[in-house]
Amino acid sequence: MPLVTLRQLLDEAAKGGYGVGAFNVNNMEQIQAIMEAARETKSPVIVQASRGARAYSNDNFLYHLMLAAAELYPEIPMVLHLDHGNSFETCKSAIELGFTSVMMDGSLMADGKTPSTFEYNVEVTRKVVELAHSKGVSVEGEIGTLGGIEDGHGAGGTGLEHVTDPDQAVEFVEKTGLDALAIAIGTSHGAYKFSRKPDGAVLKMDLLKEIHRRLPTTHLVMHGSSSVPKELQDIINEYGGKLKQTWGVPVEEIQLGIKNGVRKINVDTDNRLAITGAIRKVFAESPEKFDPRDYNKPAREAMHKVVAQRMVQFGQAGHAGDFQAKSLADYAEFYKVSK
Ligand SMILES: [Zn+2]
Repeated sequence: MPLVTLRQLLDEAAKGGYGVGAFNVNNMEQIQAIMEAARETKSPVIVQASRGARAYSNDNFLYHLMLAAAELYPEIPMVLHLDHGNSFETCKSAIELGFTSVMMDGSLMADGKTPSTFEYNVEVTRKVVELAHSKGVSVEGEIGTLGGIEDGHGAGGTGLEHVTDPDQAVEFVEKTGLDALAIAIGTSHGAYKFSRKPDGAVLKMDLLKEIHRRLPTTHLVMHGSSSVPKELQDIINEYGGKLKQTWGVPVEEIQLGIKNGVRKINVDTDNRLAITGAIRKVFAESPEKFDPRDYNKPAREAMHKVVAQRMVQFGQAGHAGDFQAKSLADYAEFYKVSK
């Protein structure tokens, strides 16, 4: 299938009442792991690249790997999404390359660190929406600021400093016309999200429900939503790693989110942990090995397992064949008419 838009995938997810995992990629093996998991579970997929990933791999490599995936997995609808675009120019370059969806994260200034003002966020996001929609490309925005720092991006902190204000969320959606809204409810990027199993004091599911009540037709996005399972931490530490014990977002909380308007769930850390654990195991158990395939293969397999599990847990499994892909031109027309 050709690449599809985020808007189409999430509209379908809303109809079906399920969520769709958005998995980050930096290389061929990660794309293969996601596509194999999608085939196995018959899932539509969102593949996303951060600015860090684009710098690491070079845009053109990533884009052409995605075209290879589209050829090899014609039955799977897939979105190529820019994760945390920091400026109009970054989003524009992704759109020009062929991404079918971009995130403009105007909750931070272009340095990717300093929390911005509401007015700045509205202005820059609206500008990206205008350009993206004229080409049929979807846009995710963010209101409120997540905790943690990843790939040099993030405001730091616990994630509770700038949780989303529901009034601002409503105004933001009205003024920008975006397709999906990332909200801050206490989650953070990276492995160290919570220092204990999260409860309502640190993971604000009631706030999510309130935002959904106010914006019932807006597709909500949960960032920093790896579950950071203990088993994956244990494998790393068993084979010489030194992770401090940590807690992520429990899958049952994500499922509660999906019942309350969450349609896109960003997962990166769990896959990083799975890959690193598998590689460490090979190095520890077979120190004589030196062919990269000897550890890249089990690493790819470990990520495939995690992704397939999340696809089932989020409910996207079984939905790959529900719809026909619409083109970017179809969506450009759709936005023109619905303006
Ligand atoms: Zn994020």
